[in-house]
This record gives sequence, C-alpha cells and structure tokens, in this order.
Amino acid sequence: MAETILVLNTGSSSIKFELFEVGAGDLPTSRFAGQIEGIGVRPRLVARARSGEPLADRVLPLEQAADVETALSVVEAWLETELDAPLSAVGHRVVHGGPAFVAPVRVDEGVLATLETLVPLAPLHQPNNLAPIRDFLRRRPDLPQIACFDTAFHRTHGELADRFAIPEVLWEEGIRRYGFHGLSYEYIASRLAELDPELARGRVIVAHLGSGCSMCALRDGRSVESTMGFTALDGLPMGTRPGQLDAGVVLHLLRAKGMDAASLEWFLYHECGLKGLSGISNDVRLLLASSDPRAKLALDFFVYKVAQMTGWLAAALEGLDGFVFTAGIGENAPTIREAVAHRLAWLGMRLDPRANAAGGPLISAPGSRLRVWVIPTDEELMIARHTLALLRRPQTGAVA
Ligand code: ADP
Repeated sequence: MAETILVLNTGSSSIKFELFEVGAGDLPTSRFAGQIEGIGVRPRLVARARSGEPLADRVLPLEQAADVETALSVVEAWLETELDAPLSAVGHRVVHGGPAFVAPVRVDEGVLATLETLVPLAPLHQPNNLAPIRDFLRRRPDLPQIACFDTAFHRTHGELADRFAIPEVLWEEGIRRYGFHGLSYEYIASRLAELDPELARGRVIVAHLGSGCSMCALRDGRSVESTMGFTALDGLPMGTRPGQLDAGVVLHLLRAKGMDAASLEWFLYHECGLKGLSGISNDVRLLLASSDPRAKLALDFFVYKVAQMTGWLAAALEGLDGFVFTAGIGENAPTIREAVAHRLAWLGMRLDPRANAAGGPLISAPGSRLRVWVIPTDEELMIARHTLALLRRPQTGAVA
C-alpha cells in the first residue's frame, strides 16, 4: 500500500489540504486537494482529484465547522472515506520559524512549545497554523508531523539584510526582517535548477505575485534578500496590504485619526493595497477588465513598485541574470508581465510577445540580456517533499 502524506495549510477561516502518495522513486505525487472555507460563518467542503474530477462539494452545518478544530475532524472523517490506508505523516505550513528554525522540523511537545513562543511575531497566522498540530499531537501522538516554515528559506540572509536601524536590544528580541513565501521560493529554485541550471547558479529575482506579493533575490539558489520584512506587510503592494509604508503614516493614523492597534491592524491587512488604491477590488482580473481610471492607477502603481523593487534587489545581488514570475498574478497575467518588462528594459529585460501570451515557461525574447521565466509555484508539493525527507531521516530534523 502506498504511503500517504497530508499537507495542511490552516488559516483563520479556511483549512486547505492536499493528499500526496509516495510513488516510484520515493517522490510525492498529488492525489487530490481541497479545502473547508468559511469556517465559523458558512462552512463548505470542496475537493478535487488531481485529474480535476470533483470529489466533494457540500455546505456543512455550522456546528460541524464552527472553528478550526471541528473543521479538522470533518477533513479527517472525509479522508477516511477516500483512503484505504492510514496517513503516514502530516506536513504543516507554519508562517513563522523565528530566527532559530532554518529548516523544517519534526514536531513534538517541546518543538510545539517553542513555536508557540513565536505567536507574538505573527499573531494573525501562527495560532491557526499551530492549532491542527496541537490537536493531532493530543489525539494521535504517533503520527509524524512536520512543520515547514515560510521564513526558513530566508535564513541564509546576511545580517545586513535582516537588520533594521533600531537599537540592538530589539534585534535580540527578534525584531528583524524575516522574509516570507519561503516555501514558494524554495520550490521555484528547485524547478529553475531543472529548467535552466546555468541561470539557477546565477543571480535571479523571483516575483511571487498572488494575493500576497513579495520578491526574493536568489544567488546560486539561495535567498540573499526579500522584500517582506518583520511581517508580511512590507515590500510590494498586495491585494489588500499596502506594502512599504513610511512608519510616520502609522503614527499619524494612531494620533490624528484616533485609530487603535486593532483598527489599524484591520486597516493595514484588509483595506489597503490594490483594493484601497482602486476603491474597486483586490482582484487583478477585475482591475484589468475595468475602464475606471482608478483601476489603471492601482495597476500602474503595482507595476511601478515591482520594477522599483527589482532595482533594490539587483543592488543586493550586485547584478542580475534572470527573473521568474510566479503565483496567481505572475502566472496568469501576461499584461502585467509585459508592463513590468517595459519598465525594466533598461536592465535588459525583453519579452517574446507570443511566449508571454502563451504563459511560457521561457518568455524572454532571444537576445534579451535577462532570461525570464514563468514557473507555477507549488508550496504544498514543497511541504510534501520536506515531510517525506524528514520521515526518511528523522534524526536530521532538529535545528539550532
Ligand atoms: P493565494 O495567495 O491566495 O494563493 P494566488 O497566488 O492564487 O493567491 O493569487 C490570487 C490572485 O491572483 C487573485 O487575487 C488575482 O488577482 C490574481 N489572478 C488569478 N488569476 C488571474 C488572471 N487570469 N489574471 C490576472 N490575475 C489573476
């Protein structure tokens, strides 16, 4: 019977899951994926096989998925009807690994306690990520669980990249630039090494442009800089987050607008970015289809910032050899890619219009100084790979 790995990505109102089978060559292959969305409001279970065939689509009674823990038992019960063997392991996406976790780790009570100390660094996400881990540890202590961090891939940064110009004591308390989307960047680095090994050994910027957006500078496949910092608020404008924002604006909102921490947090995570700027939507598809000048302003600003941050990251790399677009916008919006390339022509980025319209994977024109790729990301597969690796070599899971 094939081994199976469940990958969980738990948010405040959704549990995304994907089931991998360990196939020939000890490689994980996706069998199906799904989610429970609307937890605590209007829960709904949806799942699809890898072939695209729908496997489940039903609205759940509220009491069955009133919170993450009850929703998790619905996922488990549904999995039991689909699987003919028990799970071999669970891999979890965990947003924060702090300064210490530089790689995925097998979770026991001690590791969980350490991860709980990081909740203040990511109060909106870390508690949701840890809830299913705690639940499985209590109910199924023998089931191996692996935590995979969004921050770990960036722990190859030099100290200068991770510092803010604030007193030393705050650095020691963990007020640092961590960077996020690390599982996505790690996956892209591994794909680029297969698609274009020469470029993968060089200086590459990866733009993860989804509902959250960030960019990462890779040298020889390792992260040297990221546009996201202490939290996932920094850097590029996103669907509903502003990206880079003068700290003085935050002080002004606190003082002159009478906002408190809670209202400010809501504002920064939900009311800014493309949605705030356009006043229309956070969805790039709607903005591209709109004739409203505010939609154009929001998209122009987005493209301007992607181009500007490219210069910032190229300076960290001391040069640039290639560029990769990934995630919802990066993979699906040729107009945005073209607009970015137009602004980066001075740096040697020229696209082949047909390849760009077709989605690549290689979209740079012959003779373009930069090689430019579109590579679909797969954070869940990255988690499944890590989970399998630690299952095979459990003793190497510990970190500093
Ligand atoms: P998540 O972070 O939720 O995984 P995704 O990587 O799926 O996000 O990206 C979601 C975003 O991608 C959407 O908000 C939308 O703006 C954008 N997107 C998806 N498909 C397209 C498309 N065909 N054209 C332009 N933008 C798209």
